[in-house]
Amino acid sequence: MTQQTLLNVEGLKTYFYLDNQKVAKAVDGVNFSISPGETLALVGESGSGKSITSLSIMQLINKPGKIEGGKIIFGGKDLVGLSDKQMAKIRGKDIAMIFQEPMTALNPVFTIGNQIVETIRRHKKLTKKEAEIKAIELLKMVGFPRAEETMKEYPHQLSGGMRQRAMIAIAISCDPKLLIADEPTTALDVTIQAQILDLLNEMKKKFNMAVLLITHDLGVVAEYADRVMVMYGGQIVEDTTVERLFTNPKHPYTNGLLESLPSLEKEVDRLGAIRGMVPPAYNFPKGCRFADRCPKAMDKCRLSNPELLLTEPGHDVRCYLYE
Ligand code: SF4
Repeated sequence: MTQQTLLNVEGLKTYFYLDNQKVAKAVDGVNFSISPGETLALVGESGSGKSITSLSIMQLINKPGKIEGGKIIFGGKDLVGLSDKQMAKIRGKDIAMIFQEPMTALNPVFTIGNQIVETIRRHKKLTKKEAEIKAIELLKMVGFPRAEETMKEYPHQLSGGMRQRAMIAIAISCDPKLLIADEPTTALDVTIQAQILDLLNEMKKKFNMAVLLITHDLGVVAEYADRVMVMYGGQIVEDTTVERLFTNPKHPYTNGLLESLPSLEKEVDRLGAIRGMVPPAYNFPKGCRFADRCPKAMDKCRLSNPELLLTEPGHDVRCYLYE
């Protein structure tokens, strides 16, 4: 771990114990770190383990789920095993999170102003008046021209894009060091998506925040991330810079994801799609977890799961093709 590292996740395992005695290994030995001011994208299809990774960082895993192993070192402290009270001091203050659907995080019965002021006062010693002034400043910063009036409005009175802006205002209200954005624009129209991502990027630079951006959209990764980790079957299968991922992708799964992206340069009759589905986390194959879908699978791929190996500086891949 370098001095510059803000978050260091080591060997994280988050398992779910199902009624039928099966164990779903949703996150199964994940390692990564994030530095201040860096945007790290976590990419993969639904069920790959991205969101469970972010919920594990926030210590929001409830029964039947459990963090079974590993460390989540943030600011020199291991978050795994902290009490709810200790985590409540970190959540919303040092680490904030925004979700795909802001209505799941906004309380419908309180005004936007009330929700920002409460968040600020939970973590900062400000009077109500001082917190209100800060809330208005924040709303203006995230693009509410009539911020004073927005303070009095309820979430249902705002459009989806404006609700996400309000969520961003709440998320940055206590100057977090790390912002986790879980599919922050998936529920929005394409034009609004770009505005929200631009806003996130602007706030990241302004406050030197680290951003863990969870997305299934490689177009978003290309535009906004510095580094990218591709997840499959609860594990990282490729970890590299964004530039290298697009110029020299190595893992067959990454190639499949890239082939399913539309391109202006090459004319194709139809976009490639990865055949088959992500295997359920309670029933991973014995060997490589991608083997049943991989066009390059070899006999040995079905015998054991490859390790994540450094193939060249700054480029790790989990695949026997690069042993
Ligand atoms: Fe495909 Fe084998 Fe590589 Fe897995 S290890 S991605 S099955 S080539």
